[in-house]
Amino acid sequence: MKVGFYGHVRQYHSLKAELDAVIGEVLESGEYVMGPTLARFERELAAYFGMKNAIGVNSGTDALWLAFLALGVGPGDEVITTANTFFATAEAIWITGAKAVFVEIEPATCNIDPNRIEAAITPRTKAIVPVHLYGQMADMRSVSGIAKRHGLFVVEDGAQAIGARGDGFAAGELSDAVCTSFIVQKNLGTFGDGGAVITNREDIVPRIRALRNHGSLKRSYHSMGYNSRLDDLHAGVLGVKLKKIDEWNDRRREIAAMYTDGLKETGLALPFGKPGYRHVYHLYVIETPRRDAMLEFLNDSGVDAKVHYPIPIHRQEGFPWGKPADLDVRLPLTEKSAASVISLPMFPEMTRDEVDHVVGTCRAWAAR
Ligand SMILES: *Cc1c(COP(=O)(O)O)cnc(C)c1O
Repeated sequence: MKVGFYGHVRQYHSLKAELDAVIGEVLESGEYVMGPTLARFERELAAYFGMKNAIGVNSGTDALWLAFLALGVGPGDEVITTANTFFATAEAIWITGAKAVFVEIEPATCNIDPNRIEAAITPRTKAIVPVHLYGQMADMRSVSGIAKRHGLFVVEDGAQAIGARGDGFAAGELSDAVCTSFIVQKNLGTFGDGGAVITNREDIVPRIRALRNHGSLKRSYHSMGYNSRLDDLHAGVLGVKLKKIDEWNDRRREIAAMYTDGLKETGLALPFGKPGYRHVYHLYVIETPRRDAMLEFLNDSGVDAKVHYPIPIHRQEGFPWGKPADLDVRLPLTEKSAASVISLPMFPEMTRDEVDHVVGTCRAWAAR
């Protein structure tokens, strides 16, 4: 049996009539860019988050980048984040001209360790970017407390965590903005790229709206900006899928519970769901010291497991100051995690048989 990592085409088939209809409507309307379908989706997305504003852009990376620019992050500034994340988190910081400063993770969740943030703050620090990795929110109460004490902005990288909640706090509630991604493989994904900034800060909304559209809020009037719009076709698709996101996330949580139940006696380190948090399992990540051998065993047994992320950002070649990587940055917990993580297949359309095959294969590995 083969178990894939994603269920994109199954998801399309499950909503084919509605998706084909909305795509047809947008095509017939002739309004493909900055049209009414985008405006409608932005209202629906803001309502879903329980926030005042959502601004659609062309990727999660640009959502972060434009949020930083709107908050005035730029050359000479430092922005605190983690190295155990997708490259784009740091990339979006670097392309503003600011420097990404990496803080260690809490090993149980792989999210930023709030207890280590204050030691990384300098007079140049401008913002903190917690990443809600794998679908579980970072400890936003602690992060926002630190930010308030030091006068820093907080931008949440929520690309993996749409629909996640903390214990008594929601995404965007304790920060200046939360950014999300709609690339196909995310929990809410379109047929291509997309992203959004969601914020209650009215003052940055016109700036982000202008930045994504050549610095223009009114036809023919421009300031410096970019072209980073969310197309109406994608907005239409996302509007249909947004109605399903809670159901899909519930199914991910169900699959996660089946994995955890099936693997609890294998000795593998399983994901830690913080009490009171709603983890939406963008990824179900286990850890084992024999990672590469186990990954090969899974792949050879038809289980398309993957690794997120084998190379922490401070070890990447493209590190903008110092090449190869800046070896002064010491993040032993981050590196240990990067060397031992495996992501098991996880998508809402997985069948019971597929889940059982993944569990059986992991158990067979552990019993060898
Ligand atoms: C996917 C992702 C991004 C970037 O989103 P894109 O839409 O691919 O640009 C940023 N941060 C994290 C944590 C991600 O998982």
